[in-house]
Amino acid sequence: MTLEEWLHKEKLSATAFDSEELLESFLKEMTAGLTGTASSLPMIPSYIHPIHHIPPNKPVAVIDAGGTNLRTCLVEFDKDALPTLSHFNKQPMPGSLEEISADAFFNILADALEPMKNDFEQLGFCFSYTAEILPDQDARLLHWTKEIKMPELVGNRVGNGLQNALQQRGIHGKEIIILNDTVATLLSAIAEDGDNPASSHIGIILGTGTNSAYIEQNKNIGKINVTLKHATQVINVESGNFSRLDRGRIDRIFDAESEEPGQGVFEKMMSGAYLGDLTLLALKQAKENGYLSASASAMIAATTSLSIMHIDNFTADNGRDIGILESPLLTEKDQAIIRTVFNALVGRAAMFTAVNIAATAIKSGEGHNACRPICINIDGSTYHMTYRLAERTQDHLQHLLETRSIHVRCVHSNNAPIIGAAIAAYQ
Ligand code: BGC
Repeated sequence: MTLEEWLHKEKLSATAFDSEELLESFLKEMTAGLTGTASSLPMIPSYIHPIHHIPPNKPVAVIDAGGTNLRTCLVEFDKDALPTLSHFNKQPMPGSLEEISADAFFNILADALEPMKNDFEQLGFCFSYTAEILPDQDARLLHWTKEIKMPELVGNRVGNGLQNALQQRGIHGKEIIILNDTVATLLSAIAEDGDNPASSHIGIILGTGTNSAYIEQNKNIGKINVTLKHATQVINVESGNFSRLDRGRIDRIFDAESEEPGQGVFEKMMSGAYLGDLTLLALKQAKENGYLSASASAMIAATTSLSIMHIDNFTADNGRDIGILESPLLTEKDQAIIRTVFNALVGRAAMFTAVNIAATAIKSGEGHNACRPICINIDGSTYHMTYRLAERTQDHLQHLLETRSIHVRCVHSNNAPIIGAAIAAYQ
């Protein structure tokens, strides 16, 4: 069996999946998730209506708790909606390196906000995890993703915990609005619309984790029974949790060995937190099948983790740091095999991302007029920095949408989660 045939058999390459079938199954799961019937897609209402007006010269605080970094700053927009960021602080996301308690987490947040406590009344909190948003804009964490180790917070209110930590320092009366990073990414694209507004907006992230958000009619969200002021709101799909697809043996082993088996199944097949180690697991299995030399097999067997940055630099052959892949134990044939395995996984990630984007575009019901395409803001280092991932995604996307006459425009705005969270704070 050639390596390509083996990758196909193990369902590690895009060739093992039918994008049209996947798209159909994705759309069915979206509909089920909106009505509250069993679905792997949570379809979480954000209670945020697309915001078009941004008050000038009114600073708001922002927390951006992402998979890798925790960032805090103050954001102020001018009369042309151009943002200025100040008091910028960046540190590793608590719980990403070692386990931490919920109290310690809230104290880290309060420490970062304290120096600017007199400069803001509202706080936009971009929380990039699976959390139910409550109608008062607080959020209850449903479960962690991206291998974060802070078990105590699961099931608890995030905004409430932060309010308590602030009050213990005598900081009162701050209004906290919590939103997902995909929702923030969507909002930041609206702010950049200019004079020719798009027919709808979508936020996509493929970074440490993956997810999407789009604008839905409230009348289609059967599972909520509160009366809402507006006709539409942004839905956080939590698409990384999609699981109605036939996974191969290696993906199932990989999931079983992760922090939260069964959660974030789609994400574990494609996002930055996982692509390096998934490639390593695939190589460990490839060596069992005799694809690697004896010296490379011994090296791969002794390796416990592979960084996506190293395997990506190696595949791109861009002269940057390739870590252990620099080893003289790898023959030229081994090098070709490692590149082929990673390329296959990247191609699969590109196809899955295109399905995710296409599903949200179709579900938005817009984009049928070429003069008013849907604006898709795509954020995340894995999408933008992985060798050929973006262009391969665009190829699949074009194929999926052209046949349906849906027009889209993909954009990438700077600091999207921060800008979007600032905009949401004015809600
Ligand atoms: C989280 C999502 C988030 C996505 C992208 C996933 O692990 O569950 O809430 O939007 O990562 O950051």
